[in-house]
Amino acid sequence: MTDSVQFACTGCGKCCTGHHVPLTLDEARQWAASAGQVVVLIEAFVVDGPGMPVEQREHVLRRSHPVACGDTEARVSVTFAAFNPGRCRNLDDNDLCTIYDQRPLVCRIYPVEINPHIPLRPENKDCPPEAWQQGPELIHGTQVADPRLAALVQASRQADRDDIAAKVAVCQALGMTTSALKGNGFTAYLPEMGAFAAALAQVPADNGARWTLHVQDDELTANLQGHGLQTTCEAPVYYAFIGF
Ligand code: SF4
Ligand code: SF4
Repeated sequence: MTDSVQFACTGCGKCCTGHHVPLTLDEARQWAASAGQVVVLIEAFVVDGPGMPVEQREHVLRRSHPVACGDTEARVSVTFAAFNPGRCRNLDDNDLCTIYDQRPLVCRIYPVEINPHIPLRPENKDCPPEAWQQGPELIHGTQVADPRLAALVQASRQADRDDIAAKVAVCQALGMTTSALKGNGFTAYLPEMGAFAAALAQVPADNGARWTLHVQDDELTANLQGHGLQTTCEAPVYYAFIGF
C-alpha cells in the first residue's frame, strides 16, 4: 500500500504517446466530430461466475450492462477510447497538448488510477523518476490528496456508470457483439467513424442483440458453454482478440 506519493508533471509527453485514452460518451462524440478514430474495447463476465473478479464485485457491476449470451445473461464493460497507437493527434511538436483546455477527463487524471482497486505504482507509469521527486502530495494513504483531482476521478467513475447502457446500445447497433472474457483478454474494434458518429449522435435503442464470447482455450470454452454461454474461437475478421 502506498503511504504518500508526491508528484509534479515534467511535461515529457510520454503519457500522450501509445496510450488509447478512455473517453466519456460526450468526449467520444467530440473526438469523432474532430475526425479522430475511436477504438472500442469490450470485456464480459457472468455475475458471480466466469470472469468476475470477486474482490471488485461492486465496481465491475456498476460499470457493466446485462446482455443476452447463449441461453443466459452476461454483463459487458465497454470502453470507447481515443485510438493513439503512436503520438496523440493533439500532441504538437513541442510535446504540448493543442486541446489542453478541452482535453479528456482521463488526460486530466493521469497518472492517478481510476479503478479504486488498483493502487498507484509509479513504476507502472510513464512519468520519469524526477516527476516523483518533486511537487505536492498526490496520494495520501489510499486517497487522492488534491480534492479537485479526487473530484475528477469520481466524475470519471460516474461517467462509466452513466454511459454504459448507451455504449452497449451503440455497439449492438454497429454489430460489435463479440466480447472477450474479463481476465482472459478483450476484443478491440475500430469502427467506421461515420457510422459510429451517427450512432453516437442519436444513441439507438437496445435492439436486444445476442452476444458471443471469444475464447481460444478449450477448457475455458467448455466451462463457459457449461454455463450456457455462446462462445467462438474462429479467427476474428472485424475485430481483434487481445488475449492476456
Ligand atoms: S488529448 Fe492532449 S493530453 Fe490527452 S493524450 Fe492527447 S495530447 Fe495528451
Ligand atoms: S508521462 Fe507523466 S510527467 Fe510525462 S507528461 Fe505525462 S503526466 Fe507529465
